[in-house]
Amino acid sequence: MTFQTQTPPSGPSSTEALRAEALRAEVRAFLKEELGSRTPAQRAESWNGFDTGFSRRLGARGWIGMALPARYGGGERTMAERYVVLEELLAAGAPVMAHWIADRQSGALLLRYGNEEQRRTILPKIASGECYFCIGMSEPDAGSDLAAVRCRARKVEGGYLINGTKLWTSNAHRSHYMILFCRTDSADSDNRHGGMSQFLIDMTTPGLSIRPVVSLAGEHHFNEVTFTDVTVSDEALLGREGDGWAQVTSELTLERSGPERFLSSFQTVVELARGLRGAPDAAGTAALGRIAAHLVTLRAMSMGVSRLIDQGEDPAIQAALVKDLGAVLEQEIPDIVRLILGVEARQDDPALAGCLATTILAAPSFSLRGGTREILRGIIARGLGLR
Ligand SMILES: Cc1cc2nc3c(=O)[nH]c(=O)nc-3n(C[C@H](O)[C@H](O)[C@H](O)COP(=O)(O)OP(=O)(O)OC[C@H]3O[C@@H](n4cnc5c(N)ncnc54)[C@H](O)[C@@H]3O)c2cc1C
Repeated sequence: MTFQTQTPPSGPSSTEALRAEALRAEVRAFLKEELGSRTPAQRAESWNGFDTGFSRRLGARGWIGMALPARYGGGERTMAERYVVLEELLAAGAPVMAHWIADRQSGALLLRYGNEEQRRTILPKIASGECYFCIGMSEPDAGSDLAAVRCRARKVEGGYLINGTKLWTSNAHRSHYMILFCRTDSADSDNRHGGMSQFLIDMTTPGLSIRPVVSLAGEHHFNEVTFTDVTVSDEALLGREGDGWAQVTSELTLERSGPERFLSSFQTVVELARGLRGAPDAAGTAALGRIAAHLVTLRAMSMGVSRLIDQGEDPAIQAALVKDLGAVLEQEIPDIVRLILGVEARQDDPALAGCLATTILAAPSFSLRGGTREILRGIIARGLGLR
Protein backbone atom coordinates (compact mmCIF):
# COMPACT_ATOMS: atom_id res chain seq x y z
CA MET A 1 0.00 0.00 0.00
CA THR A 2 1.43 3.41 -0.89
CA PHE A 3 0.55 6.88 0.29
CA GLN A 4 0.57 9.95 -1.91
CA THR A 5 0.35 13.54 -0.71
CA GLN A 6 -2.76 14.91 -2.42
CA THR A 7 -3.51 18.59 -2.72
CA PRO A 8 -7.04 19.44 -1.60
CA PRO A 9 -8.23 23.05 -2.23
CA SER A 10 -7.00 24.31 1.16
CA GLY A 11 -4.03 21.94 1.21
CA PRO A 12 -0.33 22.42 0.49
CA SER A 13 0.73 23.97 -2.84
CA SER A 14 1.78 21.55 -5.58
CA THR A 15 5.44 22.55 -5.04
CA GLU A 16 5.08 21.68 -1.35
CA ALA A 17 3.43 18.38 -2.20
CA LEU A 18 6.21 17.54 -4.68
CA ARG A 19 8.85 18.35 -2.09
CA ALA A 20 7.05 16.12 0.41
CA GLU A 21 6.95 13.23 -2.07
CA ALA A 22 10.68 13.60 -2.76
CA LEU A 23 11.27 13.34 0.97
CA ARG A 24 9.14 10.18 1.12
CA ALA A 25 11.58 8.32 -1.14
CA GLU A 26 14.49 9.41 1.06
CA VAL A 27 12.73 8.29 4.26
CA ARG A 28 11.80 4.93 2.74
CA ALA A 29 15.38 4.25 1.68
CA PHE A 30 16.61 5.11 5.20
CA LEU A 31 14.00 2.88 6.85
CA LYS A 32 14.69 -0.02 4.52
CA GLU A 33 18.30 0.04 5.61
CA GLU A 34 17.55 0.64 9.30
CA LEU A 35 14.72 -1.86 9.77
CA GLY A 36 15.69 -4.66 7.40
CA SER A 37 15.99 -7.27 10.15
CA ARG A 38 12.90 -6.23 12.13
CA THR A 39 10.33 -9.06 12.21
CA PRO A 40 6.58 -8.49 11.64
CA ALA A 41 6.00 -9.12 15.37
CA GLN A 42 8.55 -6.41 16.26
CA ARG A 43 7.10 -3.99 13.71
CA ALA A 44 3.67 -4.60 15.24
CA GLU A 45 4.83 -2.80 18.39
CA SER A 46 4.15 0.24 16.23
CA TRP A 47 4.92 3.52 18.01
CA ASN A 48 5.51 1.67 21.31
CA GLY A 49 8.87 0.40 20.07
CA PHE A 50 11.63 2.16 22.05
CA ASP A 51 15.15 2.47 20.60
CA THR A 52 17.28 5.47 21.54
CA GLY A 53 19.89 4.64 18.86
CA PHE A 54 17.21 4.75 16.17
CA SER A 55 15.86 8.06 17.52
CA ARG A 56 19.36 9.57 17.42
CA ARG A 57 19.94 8.42 13.86
CA LEU A 58 16.57 9.83 12.83
CA GLY A 59 17.42 13.11 14.56
CA ALA A 60 20.76 13.26 12.72
CA ARG A 61 18.76 13.13 9.47
CA GLY A 62 16.73 16.15 10.56
CA TRP A 63 13.50 14.16 10.86
CA ILE A 64 12.63 15.06 14.46
CA GLY A 65 11.59 18.57 15.45
CA MET A 66 10.90 19.25 11.78
CA ALA A 67 8.47 22.07 12.57
CA LEU A 68 10.73 23.78 15.12
CA PRO A 69 12.60 26.99 14.22
CA ALA A 70 16.17 26.52 12.95
CA ARG A 71 17.59 28.65 15.80
CA TYR A 72 16.45 25.91 18.21
CA GLY A 73 17.83 23.06 16.10
CA GLY A 74 14.59 22.49 14.18
CA GLY A 75 14.09 21.93 10.49
CA GLU A 76 11.49 24.64 9.66
CA ARG A 77 9.91 22.10 7.32
CA THR A 78 6.31 22.18 6.13
CA MET A 79 3.44 20.36 7.74
CA ALA A 80 3.19 18.11 4.64
CA GLU A 81 6.85 17.08 4.97
CA ARG A 82 6.51 16.35 8.67
CA TYR A 83 3.40 14.28 7.98
CA VAL A 84 5.21 12.23 5.33
CA VAL A 85 7.96 11.33 7.82
CA LEU A 86 5.46 10.38 10.54
CA GLU A 87 3.36 8.12 8.34
CA GLU A 88 6.38 6.43 6.77
CA LEU A 89 7.77 5.67 10.24
CA LEU A 90 4.46 4.19 11.34
CA ALA A 91 3.86 2.30 8.11
CA ALA A 92 7.29 0.69 8.46
CA GLY A 93 6.80 -0.20 12.15
CA ALA A 94 9.82 1.87 13.23
CA PRO A 95 10.68 2.04 16.98
CA VAL A 96 9.84 5.72 17.51
CA MET A 97 8.58 5.89 21.09
CA ALA A 98 11.74 7.35 22.66
CA HIS A 99 11.32 10.70 20.90
CA TRP A 100 7.61 10.52 19.96
CA ILE A 101 6.06 12.51 22.83
CA ALA A 102 8.72 15.24 22.75
CA ASP A 103 8.39 15.55 18.98
CA ARG A 104 4.59 15.45 18.96
CA GLN A 105 3.65 17.74 21.80
CA SER A 106 6.25 18.65 24.45
CA GLY A 107 8.54 20.54 22.03
CA ALA A 108 5.61 22.59 20.74
CA LEU A 109 4.58 23.35 24.31
CA LEU A 110 8.08 24.47 25.29
CA LEU A 111 8.33 26.62 22.18
CA ARG A 112 5.11 28.37 23.13
CA TYR A 113 5.30 28.56 26.91
CA GLY A 114 8.90 27.88 27.91
CA ASN A 115 11.43 30.59 28.65
CA GLU A 116 14.34 31.36 26.33
CA GLU A 117 16.83 29.33 28.38
CA GLN A 118 14.56 26.23 28.26
CA ARG A 119 14.03 26.64 24.52
CA ARG A 120 17.74 27.12 23.85
CA THR A 121 18.91 24.15 25.91
CA ILE A 122 16.13 21.57 25.43
CA LEU A 123 14.67 22.01 21.94
CA PRO A 124 17.94 21.21 20.06
CA LYS A 125 18.27 18.01 22.11
CA ILE A 126 14.69 17.04 21.21
CA ALA A 127 15.47 17.64 17.53
CA SER A 128 18.61 15.49 17.70
CA GLY A 129 16.64 12.59 19.21
CA GLU A 130 18.46 12.72 22.56
CA CYS A 131 15.87 14.20 24.90
CA TYR A 132 12.69 12.33 25.85
CA PHE A 133 9.50 13.49 27.54
CA CYS A 134 6.60 11.89 29.39
CA ILE A 135 3.08 13.17 30.00
CA GLY A 136 2.02 13.80 33.61
CA MET A 137 -1.73 14.20 33.29
CA SER A 138 -3.63 11.12 34.61
CA GLU A 139 -3.87 10.27 38.32
CA PRO A 140 -5.32 7.34 40.29
CA ASP A 141 -8.75 9.00 40.47
CA ALA A 142 -8.46 11.41 37.57
CA GLY A 143 -8.23 10.00 34.06
CA SER A 144 -11.32 10.83 32.02
CA ASP A 145 -12.18 13.50 34.55
CA LEU A 146 -8.86 15.31 34.26
CA ALA A 147 -10.21 18.31 36.15
CA ALA A 148 -10.28 16.09 39.25
CA VAL A 149 -6.46 16.03 39.53
CA ARG A 150 -5.24 16.36 43.10
CA CYS A 151 -1.50 16.64 42.58
CA ARG A 152 -0.73 20.16 43.78
CA ALA A 153 2.05 22.70 43.39
CA ARG A 154 2.05 25.16 46.30
CA LYS A 155 3.76 28.51 45.85
CA VAL A 156 6.76 28.91 48.14
CA GLU A 157 9.61 31.43 48.22
CA GLY A 158 11.38 31.28 44.82
CA GLY A 159 9.40 28.36 43.44
CA TYR A 160 6.80 25.64 44.10
CA LEU A 161 6.48 22.64 46.40
CA ILE A 162 4.81 19.70 44.65
CA ASN A 163 2.99 16.75 46.21
CA GLY A 164 0.84 14.10 44.56
CA THR A 165 0.77 11.03 42.33
CA LYS A 166 0.57 10.55 38.57
CA LEU A 167 -0.49 7.23 37.03
CA TRP A 168 -0.14 5.46 33.65
CA THR A 169 2.83 7.69 32.86
CA SER A 170 4.26 6.05 29.75
CA ASN A 171 8.05 5.81 29.75
CA ALA A 172 8.57 7.97 32.84
CA HIS A 173 11.43 5.60 33.72
CA ARG A 174 13.33 6.46 30.55
CA SER A 175 12.39 10.11 30.04
CA HIS A 176 14.44 13.18 30.86
CA TYR A 177 11.47 15.46 31.53
CA MET A 178 7.78 15.38 32.34
CA ILE A 179 5.24 18.06 31.52
CA LEU A 180 3.24 17.98 34.73
CA PHE A 181 -0.38 19.09 34.87
CA CYS A 182 -1.51 19.88 38.41
CA ARG A 183 -3.42 22.22 40.71
CA THR A 184 -1.97 25.51 41.79
CA ASP A 185 -5.09 26.96 43.41
CA SER A 186 -5.80 26.81 47.12
CA ALA A 187 -6.96 23.53 48.61
CA ASP A 188 -10.51 24.73 49.28
CA SER A 189 -11.11 26.25 45.84
CA ASP A 190 -14.07 24.87 43.89
CA ASN A 191 -12.89 26.32 40.58
CA ARG A 192 -12.56 23.06 38.60
CA HIS A 193 -10.78 24.42 35.53
CA GLY A 194 -9.31 27.68 36.71
CA GLY A 195 -6.71 26.62 39.21
CA MET A 196 -4.48 24.41 37.07
CA SER A 197 -0.96 24.91 35.73
CA GLN A 198 1.75 23.07 33.82
CA PHE A 199 5.36 22.56 34.92
CA LEU A 200 8.55 21.35 33.30
CA ILE A 201 9.91 18.64 35.60
CA ASP A 202 13.42 17.25 35.40
CA MET A 203 12.96 13.53 36.13
CA THR A 204 16.07 13.46 38.35
CA THR A 205 14.61 16.00 40.81
CA PRO A 206 14.88 14.79 44.45
CA GLY A 207 11.57 13.65 45.96
CA LEU A 208 10.31 12.16 42.70
CA SER A 209 9.90 8.37 42.64
CA ILE A 210 8.93 6.10 39.75
CA ARG A 211 7.25 2.72 40.23
CA PRO A 212 6.66 0.36 37.26
CA VAL A 213 3.12 -0.72 36.30
CA VAL A 214 3.16 -3.82 34.09
CA SER A 215 0.63 -3.92 31.23
CA LEU A 216 -1.66 -6.81 30.32
CA ALA A 217 0.89 -7.78 27.66
CA GLY A 218 3.43 -8.24 30.48
CA GLU A 219 5.42 -5.17 29.44
CA HIS A 220 6.72 -2.18 31.35
CA HIS A 221 5.70 1.05 29.61
CA PHE A 222 3.50 2.59 32.30
CA ASN A 223 4.54 3.98 35.67
CA GLU A 224 3.22 5.51 38.82
CA VAL A 225 5.16 8.69 39.56
CA THR A 226 5.01 10.09 43.07
CA PHE A 227 5.98 13.64 44.07
CA THR A 228 6.91 13.95 47.74
CA ASP A 229 7.84 17.51 48.68
CA VAL A 230 9.43 18.09 45.28
CA THR A 231 10.80 21.62 44.99
CA VAL A 232 11.04 23.34 41.61
CA SER A 233 12.02 26.91 40.79
CA ASP A 234 9.66 29.57 39.40
CA GLU A 235 11.19 28.92 35.95
CA ALA A 236 9.62 25.44 35.92
CA LEU A 237 6.15 26.99 35.49
CA LEU A 238 5.12 26.78 31.82
CA GLY A 239 2.87 29.58 30.66
CA ARG A 240 0.87 31.50 33.23
CA GLU A 241 -0.18 30.13 36.59
CA GLY A 242 -3.86 29.20 36.34
CA ASP A 243 -3.86 28.82 32.53
CA GLY A 244 -3.08 25.08 32.64
CA TRP A 245 -6.52 23.89 31.56
CA ALA A 246 -6.47 25.80 28.25
CA GLN A 247 -2.85 24.74 27.67
CA VAL A 248 -3.51 21.06 28.34
CA THR A 249 -6.55 21.06 26.05
CA SER A 250 -4.53 22.31 23.09
CA GLU A 251 -1.80 19.78 23.97
CA LEU A 252 -4.45 17.05 23.74
CA THR A 253 -5.39 18.24 20.24
CA LEU A 254 -1.78 17.54 19.17
CA GLU A 255 -1.97 14.20 20.97
CA ARG A 256 -5.19 13.01 19.33
CA SER A 257 -4.94 13.90 15.67
CA GLY A 258 -1.77 12.38 14.18
CA PRO A 259 -1.44 9.31 11.94
CA GLU A 260 -0.55 7.15 14.97
CA ARG A 261 -4.25 7.32 15.81
CA PHE A 262 -5.20 5.09 12.88
CA LEU A 263 -1.96 3.26 11.98
CA SER A 264 -1.31 1.33 15.23
CA SER A 265 -2.53 -1.94 13.60
CA PHE A 266 -0.98 -1.20 10.23
CA GLN A 267 1.54 -4.05 10.35
CA THR A 268 -1.31 -6.57 10.42
CA VAL A 269 -2.70 -4.88 7.28
CA VAL A 270 0.70 -5.29 5.63
CA GLU A 271 0.62 -8.98 6.60
CA LEU A 272 -2.95 -9.30 5.27
CA ALA A 273 -1.87 -7.86 1.92
CA ARG A 274 1.12 -10.20 1.90
CA GLY A 275 -1.06 -13.20 2.82
CA LEU A 276 -3.52 -12.46 0.01
CA ARG A 277 -0.91 -11.79 -2.61
CA GLY A 278 -1.39 -13.98 -5.66
CA ALA A 279 -4.69 -15.54 -4.61
CA PRO A 280 -7.08 -12.96 -3.13
CA ASP A 281 -10.60 -14.36 -2.83
CA ALA A 282 -13.67 -12.10 -2.87
CA ALA A 283 -13.81 -11.75 0.93
CA GLY A 284 -10.10 -10.92 1.18
CA THR A 285 -10.29 -8.35 -1.61
CA ALA A 286 -13.34 -6.72 -0.04
CA ALA A 287 -11.73 -6.63 3.42
CA LEU A 288 -8.51 -5.10 2.16
CA GLY A 289 -10.41 -2.59 0.04
CA ARG A 290 -12.58 -1.56 2.96
CA ILE A 291 -9.58 -1.06 5.27
CA ALA A 292 -7.77 0.95 2.58
CA ALA A 293 -10.84 3.18 2.06
CA HIS A 294 -11.03 3.86 5.81
CA LEU A 295 -7.31 4.60 6.02
CA VAL A 296 -7.40 7.04 3.12
CA THR A 297 -10.35 8.90 4.64
CA LEU A 298 -8.82 9.03 8.12
CA ARG A 299 -5.58 10.28 6.63
CA ALA A 300 -7.38 13.12 4.85
CA MET A 301 -9.12 14.05 8.13
CA SER A 302 -5.91 13.90 10.13
CA MET A 303 -4.02 16.01 7.60
CA GLY A 304 -6.89 18.50 7.69
CA VAL A 305 -6.46 18.80 11.47
CA SER A 306 -2.69 19.26 11.06
CA ARG A 307 -3.34 22.10 8.62
CA LEU A 308 -5.73 23.79 11.04
CA ILE A 309 -3.14 23.51 13.84
CA ASP A 310 -0.53 24.92 11.44
CA GLN A 311 -2.83 27.88 10.81
CA GLY A 312 -2.96 28.60 14.55
CA GLU A 313 -6.41 27.13 15.24
CA ASP A 314 -7.32 24.69 18.00
CA PRO A 315 -9.42 21.96 16.32
CA ALA A 316 -10.16 19.93 19.48
CA ILE A 317 -13.44 18.47 18.17
CA GLN A 318 -11.97 17.45 14.82
CA ALA A 319 -9.01 15.84 16.63
CA ALA A 320 -11.43 13.87 18.85
CA LEU A 321 -13.19 12.65 15.68
CA VAL A 322 -9.91 11.43 14.14
CA LYS A 323 -8.95 9.58 17.28
CA ASP A 324 -12.35 7.99 17.86
CA LEU A 325 -12.85 6.80 14.26
CA GLY A 326 -9.20 5.78 14.06
CA ALA A 327 -9.44 3.64 17.20
CA VAL A 328 -12.58 1.88 15.89
CA LEU A 329 -10.68 0.84 12.76
CA GLU A 330 -7.44 -0.04 14.58
CA GLN A 331 -9.36 -2.34 16.93
CA GLU A 332 -11.30 -4.00 14.12
CA ILE A 333 -8.26 -4.82 11.99
CA PRO A 334 -6.82 -7.77 14.01
CA ASP A 335 -10.19 -9.56 13.94
CA ILE A 336 -10.58 -9.01 10.20
CA VAL A 337 -7.08 -10.31 9.52
CA ARG A 338 -7.58 -13.34 11.79
CA LEU A 339 -10.82 -14.30 10.07
CA ILE A 340 -9.71 -13.68 6.49
CA LEU A 341 -6.35 -15.42 6.76
CA GLY A 342 -7.59 -18.08 9.18
CA VAL A 343 -4.61 -17.66 11.47
CA GLU A 344 -4.49 -17.71 15.27
CA ALA A 345 -2.35 -15.31 17.28
CA ARG A 346 0.82 -16.71 18.86
CA GLN A 347 3.13 -14.59 20.99
CA ASP A 348 6.20 -16.75 20.31
CA ASP A 349 5.92 -16.40 16.51
CA PRO A 350 8.11 -13.73 14.86
CA ALA A 351 5.93 -13.64 11.71
CA LEU A 352 2.19 -13.17 11.06
CA ALA A 353 0.86 -15.01 14.14
CA GLY A 354 3.21 -13.00 16.38
CA CYS A 355 2.31 -9.75 14.66
CA LEU A 356 -1.34 -10.54 15.31
CA ALA A 357 -0.68 -11.43 18.96
CA THR A 358 1.16 -8.14 19.60
CA THR A 359 -1.65 -6.14 18.01
CA ILE A 360 -4.42 -8.04 19.83
CA LEU A 361 -2.74 -7.46 23.20
CA ALA A 362 -2.29 -3.74 22.50
CA ALA A 363 -5.71 -3.15 20.92
CA PRO A 364 -7.78 -2.57 24.11
CA SER A 365 -5.54 0.42 24.90
CA PHE A 366 -6.29 2.13 21.55
CA SER A 367 -9.63 3.45 22.82
CA LEU A 368 -8.25 4.36 26.27
CA ARG A 369 -4.93 6.16 25.76
CA GLY A 370 -5.17 9.83 24.90
CA GLY A 371 -8.82 9.96 26.06
CA THR A 372 -11.38 7.14 26.14
CA ARG A 373 -14.00 6.54 23.45
CA GLU A 374 -16.83 7.76 25.70
CA ILE A 375 -15.01 10.97 26.57
CA LEU A 376 -14.16 11.71 22.91
CA ARG A 377 -17.77 11.12 21.91
CA GLY A 378 -18.85 13.50 24.66
CA ILE A 379 -16.53 16.17 23.23
CA ILE A 380 -17.88 15.56 19.71
CA ALA A 381 -21.49 15.66 20.94
CA ARG A 382 -20.83 18.96 22.71
CA GLY A 383 -19.22 20.34 19.54
CA LEU A 384 -22.32 19.37 17.58
CA GLY A 385 -24.52 21.13 20.13
CA LEU A 386 -26.07 17.86 21.33
CA ARG A 387 -25.24 18.31 25.01
C1 LIG B 1 -1.47 2.76 26.60
C2 LIG B 1 -1.79 3.91 27.52
C3 LIG B 1 -0.86 4.90 27.69
C4 LIG B 1 -1.14 5.97 28.57
N1 LIG B 1 -0.18 6.90 28.78
C5 LIG B 1 -0.42 7.95 29.58
C6 LIG B 1 0.59 8.93 29.84
O1 LIG B 1 1.71 8.82 29.34
N2 LIG B 1 0.29 9.96 30.66
C7 LIG B 1 -0.94 10.10 31.23
O2 LIG B 1 -1.14 11.09 31.93
N3 LIG B 1 -1.91 9.17 31.04
C8 LIG B 1 -1.68 8.10 30.24
N4 LIG B 1 -2.66 7.14 30.04
C9 LIG B 1 -3.89 7.22 30.81
C10 LIG B 1 -5.13 7.52 29.99
O3 LIG B 1 -5.16 8.86 29.57
C11 LIG B 1 -6.32 7.16 30.88
O4 LIG B 1 -6.30 5.76 31.05
C12 LIG B 1 -7.63 7.57 30.28
O5 LIG B 1 -7.75 8.96 30.23
C13 LIG B 1 -8.82 6.99 31.10
O6 LIG B 1 -8.68 7.28 32.44
P1 LIG B 1 -8.83 6.14 33.56
O7 LIG B 1 -7.88 5.05 33.20
O8 LIG B 1 -8.70 6.78 34.89
O9 LIG B 1 -10.27 5.55 33.35
P2 LIG B 1 -11.64 6.16 33.90
O10 LIG B 1 -11.64 7.61 33.68
O11 LIG B 1 -11.86 5.63 35.27
O12 LIG B 1 -12.67 5.50 32.90
C14 LIG B 1 -13.14 4.16 33.06
C15 LIG B 1 -14.27 3.94 32.05
O13 LIG B 1 -15.37 4.81 32.38
C16 LIG B 1 -15.72 5.59 31.25
N5 LIG B 1 -16.13 6.94 31.66
C17 LIG B 1 -15.46 7.75 32.50
N6 LIG B 1 -16.11 8.93 32.61
C18 LIG B 1 -17.19 8.86 31.79
C19 LIG B 1 -18.23 9.76 31.45
N7 LIG B 1 -18.29 10.98 31.97
N8 LIG B 1 -19.17 9.35 30.58
C20 LIG B 1 -19.11 8.11 30.03
N9 LIG B 1 -18.14 7.20 30.31
C21 LIG B 1 -17.20 7.57 31.18
C22 LIG B 1 -14.47 5.68 30.41
O14 LIG B 1 -14.75 5.96 29.08
C23 LIG B 1 -13.88 4.30 30.61
O15 LIG B 1 -14.47 3.38 29.73
C24 LIG B 1 -2.40 6.05 29.21
C25 LIG B 1 -3.34 5.04 29.02
C26 LIG B 1 -3.05 3.97 28.19
C27 LIG B 1 -4.08 2.88 28.02
